[in-house]
Parts: sequence; structure tokens; C-alpha cells
Amino acid sequence: MIKFLDNKLFRYLSVLLFLNSSILPVKSSSALAAWAINPNGVLELRTKSNTDLKAYFQKANQISGDRFWVDFPGELKNPRTIKGNGQIKEVRLGKPEKGKTRLVIEFKEETYLNPLTWKMVGLDQNRWRIKLFNPKYSFKKIGEGLVEKKRANIKANQDLIHRKKNNYGYLKLPEVKRNKFEVVIDPGHGGPDPGAIGIGGIRETDVVLEVSKIVKNLLSEKGVKVSLTRTNDVDLDLPPRVSIANNSDADIFVSIHANASRGKRRDINGLETFYYRGWRGRLLAKGIQKQILRVSPGSPDRGVKQGRFYVIKNTRMPAVLVEIGFLTGRLDARRLEKITHRKRLAHAIAKGILEYLDKVG
Ligand SMILES: [Zn+2]
Repeated sequence: MIKFLDNKLFRYLSVLLFLNSSILPVKSSSALAAWAINPNGVLELRTKSNTDLKAYFQKANQISGDRFWVDFPGELKNPRTIKGNGQIKEVRLGKPEKGKTRLVIEFKEETYLNPLTWKMVGLDQNRWRIKLFNPKYSFKKIGEGLVEKKRANIKANQDLIHRKKNNYGYLKLPEVKRNKFEVVIDPGHGGPDPGAIGIGGIRETDVVLEVSKIVKNLLSEKGVKVSLTRTNDVDLDLPPRVSIANNSDADIFVSIHANASRGKRRDINGLETFYYRGWRGRLLAKGIQKQILRVSPGSPDRGVKQGRFYVIKNTRMPAVLVEIGFLTGRLDARRLEKITHRKRLAHAIAKGILEYLDKVG
């Protein structure tokens, strides 16, 4: 069941959006000038200036392995296939339609990819970079042309450079000792109890389940064992959630919720994280709160507080309950509707958890 849902979620994932639009005449030559996949799993591209790129990911099917591709404006002269090595099966350059160029990277079977964390970063007006995988075995660089060649514009767009730094800082999840930690993630509510119902009928149970699953994927990738108290929309009372945690060797317990305000006031927005006791719980709550605020600009910081919620009061390990925004609030609800924001929140929660595990162990 989990597997199926995950596949569905990952199926087609547009990993980025680029804003630079310049319309090239259909006849013009390919905007792709050079590409390279480096030994660290980073794909680098050099294009004509201000090119509009679109990138996609598709999960493996019977015919081919996981594929990542980028479409460029301008027509490719000679379609070709370059043999891969390591986790990469091959790279194909083709023209999906007249006036277009497509660079396809096909991975071998059993490559564990995490496209949710992918982000194409513009380094300057004609260079791009995206981290695709962590090489398991040694991977020999492949590519065509010189991606580094042009120093382009010396007064390169400061804003882009700034964004690049921020993106990297924000994307980086800390490494922790693999196979050492265990975490229980508790998506609030479920089944006949949908939790908060927000603007436009958005349901807490759905939002927090999706966020929780992404958190699980991100942590699993770092070698952390994760149990979810529920993996679909089922009714699960509070005591079994607690016993799942207490019967495991979990280091921490994180319950994920979204808020509703009394009277469904649209002007009430914000994030808060609760713990019940102990400096560990408080430290974990502070770390998660800090990270979720970073991805929710403008939404008020309602703080880290002590709360007497059943699930954090009765669990034996450091436990927190995160409220990722108000489904009844105009600002928060609009964001929580979007998968991009849910992914950012999941990433933030995972980061808070990993930083805690790294620090406290
Ligand atoms: Zn709730």
C-alpha cells in the first residue's frame, strides 16, 4: 500500500520552474551548449543566456529505468546516445518535437533516487546545476563540451548568486550515523476524524499524512529507521499511536498536525511546536520550529510551548507535536494546499530532526 502510494506520488514530478523566458525562433539551434554529470552526481548544464528550461522525472516502468529529462528550446542537430557507467545507464540527446532538444538521463534499476529534494539552480545566466544522486560506486564523469567555459557576464546577476547560496543552505540535510536512529512519525487524525477542516474544505488528515510520508522518505534516505503510526486514511485512536512508539526503540516521536482557529478566522495564521517535558523534547521542538518558520515566510511564530497533548505526554521518548499552519488562515491555507509547500515543510521537519539526532544522538 505504501509502495503504491509512493509510486503514484513520484510518478511525474516537475522538479523546477524557471522564470527566464526568452522566445527563440523555432529554426534556431539548440540552446544546450554543454553538459556534464560529475563524479559527485551533479548534473551541470551550459545553455544560451536566459534559456527557459523544463525538467521532469519519471519513475521506472517495464520499458525503462528511472528517467530525468530536461527540455531546451532550439533544435538538436544530431540525436545521439552516450553510454553511462555506475548508476547511470545512458544519456540520450534527442528532439522530442521540431525545434526542441531533450536531454534524457536514464538510471539503472534499483537506483535509489529522491527527486523530492531536487532543485535546479541557476549559477549565472547560462549555467545550471542539479544534484541527482549520491554515487554508490565510483562514477566516472561523462559529458560533452565545456560547462565551465564561459565566465559569461562579469557582473553576473547578484540575485541569482544569492539565491544559489540560499538554495544550497536550505537544501542540505545533515548527515547522521546510518542505521543508528529510529523515529516514529505520527500523522494526526485519520478515518472518521479528519481533524481541522480549512478554507475550501482542505482537510488536516490529508495534509499531515502527505507531509509525514515525505518526512519518512527524507529520513530513510539518511539511514534513519522511520515508522509511521498510520500510512493511509484510517481511524487510529491516540493510545495505539503511543504504544507503537513505546513498543519500539524509537529515539524520538514527532506528531504532525495542522491548526484551525475558533470561528475559522482567516486572519489567524502561524506555526507552533509543543513538547511536554524534558530538555530533549524542548530542543527538538525548537529545532523543528526554527526550520518550519524558515520555509513559511510571513506566517507568525507562535513559539515553542509546553502542551499536555495525549501523544506527547504518554510517549516515553522525547516527543513533540508540530502544528504546520492554520488551515483556516488565509495565508497558511493557500500554502498548505500546494504540494511544493508541503514538500518544503517536510524537508524542514526532517532537517530539524536530523540536526537533533546529530547533536543529541
Ligand atoms: Zn490536529
